[in-house]
Order: sequence, then structure tokens, then C-alpha cells
Amino acid sequence: MSRVAHPAGPRHADVLPAVPPPVPPADLNALDEAIWPRGARRAGGVLTLGGMDVRDLAGQFGTPLFVLDEEDFRGRCRDFRQAFGEQAGVFYAAKAFCSRAVLRWVAEEGLGVDVCTGGELEVALQAGVDPAMITLHGSNKLMEELERALSVGVGHIVVDSFEEIARLAHLTEEIGAAAPSARGSAGERPKILVRVTTGVEAHTHEFVATAHDDQKFGFSLSSGAADEAVRRVLAAPGLELAGLHSHIGSQIYDTAGFDVAAHRVVELAVRIRDEHGVNIRELNLGGGFGIAYVGGDDPADVKIIAQNLHEIVRGQCVVAGLPMPRLTVEPGRGIAGPGTVTLYEVGTVKDVDGLRTYVSVDGGMSDNIRTALYGAEYTCVLASRESTAPSMLSRVVGRHCESGDIVVKDTYLPADLAPGDLVAVAATGAYCRSMASNYNHVPRPPVVAVRDGAVTVLLRRETIGDLLALDEG
Ligand SMILES: *Cc1c(COP(=O)(O)O)cnc(C)c1O
Repeated sequence: MSRVAHPAGPRHADVLPAVPPPVPPADLNALDEAIWPRGARRAGGVLTLGGMDVRDLAGQFGTPLFVLDEEDFRGRCRDFRQAFGEQAGVFYAAKAFCSRAVLRWVAEEGLGVDVCTGGELEVALQAGVDPAMITLHGSNKLMEELERALSVGVGHIVVDSFEEIARLAHLTEEIGAAAPSARGSAGERPKILVRVTTGVEAHTHEFVATAHDDQKFGFSLSSGAADEAVRRVLAAPGLELAGLHSHIGSQIYDTAGFDVAAHRVVELAVRIRDEHGVNIRELNLGGGFGIAYVGGDDPADVKIIAQNLHEIVRGQCVVAGLPMPRLTVEPGRGIAGPGTVTLYEVGTVKDVDGLRTYVSVDGGMSDNIRTALYGAEYTCVLASRESTAPSMLSRVVGRHCESGDIVVKDTYLPADLAPGDLVAVAATGAYCRSMASNYNHVPRPPVVAVRDGAVTVLLRRETIGDLLALDEG
């Protein structure tokens, strides 16, 4: 069930009511299948991923280490493709985790790629992704990013501001004038999606539906800005209006928020038909499909989500007398999140009497900022040996100079946990490595892919040398 939350302002740990600590699991050796990668096993307390023993991986690559289960990642690409069907488009949101290899897998599995910067665009191009299968996003795309996107012929550009429409209109006029037959590499006009803000905002399983659109992204529906954006795109001879785009948030567990958003977008589609005699061909409902991080998290199955979204849009189009548009979605976390685990080595264990035990690991907010940033919750286990010790309430913390440097706020770990043990944190594939920083001059960890007992490096470990190479003083 979705709850309609109060618009309580920014989520911050300090203003939230105290959350009771989780109940210790009955069996500290069990792995919750909803949370861990599909290729994760635990035998005698030792975690294996894609057939690889995590002790060997840590020995070979060091810690912290991101271990990505390739079959899990590819399997989720296929799940989205199958659930949404041949008619729909599934675009992987590269910002969740972006490397050449994963974008190659995405393309091999028949998905497109969403990029929101020139950097992500170059990775996709280098991965060999067909430009026609790339969508360019961004609330303030740079002029050179727009030029690059046009010159390689990306399939879709999602416009986010009047300035951007004007820039694109100008650039496409220049291109058209210089070589009328050479618009983009595909020789076509760029397909434009107008990003609308529907007043529906979803995060952490709740959604807020308001009449206003108080955020930086997109054209407001309520103010009429979205209608005006459509007018301006239609008026630009070099641009082709393909459809509308709406992204309502992240970590969404069901389709109630999409229902409200789709309803408002379809109302705009009706106005477009009435004003311009144009039917919207594509409707992009964005990403935001939630995953399980801790026990009890229960996101709806992708098949159910797909079915509901199709029914919602079809129903509303029937009522409005519109032809059914092609549906597109942009999952990031739902594909990249569950298949990756972070391995850390325990460095210190400090018992704060009667409260909890602080377990310090060799990474922290530089490889996972989500706990500090959003109060995100994670599941953590002892991964390198068996333990029959009782469980202790623990807080897994990093090695940075911030007391907010927390990896897992509340978890139960065996009471005999000691320096040198490996712990594994689940579901770190989305927005961890991609948001990693060099805070405290810590080199960013590598990402390795495991599959059928073999390992490949996707991103190598950064070195102090890499960081010093930038230092020209
Ligand atoms: C971030 C984002 C996504 C992906 O969101 P997830 O929560 O990772 O699925 C998709 N579309 C847009 C426009 C986004 O900004």
C-alpha cells in the first residue's frame, strides 16, 4: 500500500523519530534471497558470489571491493524486457552504475541506455551502444553535450527547459542549413520528449501528490509551462515531438504514484491533440522501481508493475479517446542495485556499553554516501567464516573524518566479530560506486564482475598516484 506522506521537507535522520533497531534474524547464516544477488550462496558461513569465494576475491583485489554478479544484472535486464514486452522500450539509467562492460551487457540484452551527461554518453558510445538506443537527459545540458548528441544521432533528447528548446532549435537549424541531408548520423530529426513535472513525487515507498511542481526538473503541468514547451518544440522545424516524459522519483514499491502521474500526463496529451491535432506517440514514465535493501522490504514484482502501468495508461487513453502511445521506462536501481555486494575488512570493533558495537570497516561514505545522504538502510553479514556466537546490535561505520560516516546504521552481527573479518553489504550496485568520492584522498574501490566461477575487472582500483596526477601545485 502506498501512503500519501505529509510534505515534511527534507528527510534527515535528525528530524525523524527514533527507529527501533531491527529484530535479530533467527539465523545469522541465512541469506534473504530478496536482498542478495541471485548468484550468492553461503556455505559454512563463507559467502560465494557467482561461484567465487569472497575471501579469494578480497585476497586478489583488496577491500573495499564491489563485486557484481553478472548473471543477476543481465537477468534483471531480461526481466524488464519480458515484463514490458516487445512494444515497450526499456532504457537502463546509466547513472545508477556506468561502465563500458555493463552498458555492453545492457545493449546485448536488448535495452537502450539513458545518459544524463556527456561523460555517460561517451561511455555508452565506447561500449558500442547504438546511438539510436540512447536517450539524453539532464536539467542543464551543456551546449557541447547537445552538439555531441546531435552529431552522433542519439535516439531521443528529453528537454527540460525553454532555454534548451531554443538551443536545440538553433543547433538543428544550423545543421539543417549546412547539410540538409545530414541531420544527425541517422539523417533524421532528433526525437524530442518533453519532460513534465506532474506534482507527484515519490521516494522511499511513499508518494506525495500536490497541485504544484516545486522542483528543478521539467516543465510544470499546473502552470501551463508544459503546454508552452510543446508549442515551442512543434514550432521548431528541426525538432520532432515524439512524446512526453515523467519521472516521479525513486525506490517506488507499487504503481499508485504512477497512476496519478499518468493521469495528469494523459490530460496534457488530450490538450495537445485538441490544440495541435497531434497525437503523442511515446509516453516515458521514467524509472524509480524500488528494490529490497533490508528484511521486510517488499517491492512489487516487475511483471506486476509492467502490467499495472500498461493498464493504467491504456485505461486513461481509452477514456480520453487517445490512441495508446508506446510506453517507455527507465529503470536504474531495479537493474543495477541488487546484483552487487560491497566487501569490507573489519579494522576495529568498539563496544559502547549497553548501546551498540561500532564496527569500523576500510571504506565508508566515500564508497557509499547513501546512508549519510538519505538515511538509507542496508543488510550486512559476516562473509568470511562461520560463527555460532550470539548476535550483537552493531553499527558499521567507515574510516572518514565525519561522525555521520555510517555504512549500516543498525544491524546484527556475531559477537565474536574481529579485525580481519570480511563483512559484505548487500544491494550496493546502484548509486554507490557512481556517487563515490575521494573524500580524505581515499582512492575509489574497484568493481569486479563474477560469473560461473570467473572474475573480470570492470573498473580498477584508483591509486594515490591517480589522485596525485591531478595535483599540479
Ligand atoms: C534517476 C532517473 C532514473 C532512474 O531511477 P532509478 O530510481 O534508479 O530507477 C530514470 N529516469 C530519470 C529521468 C532519472 O532521473
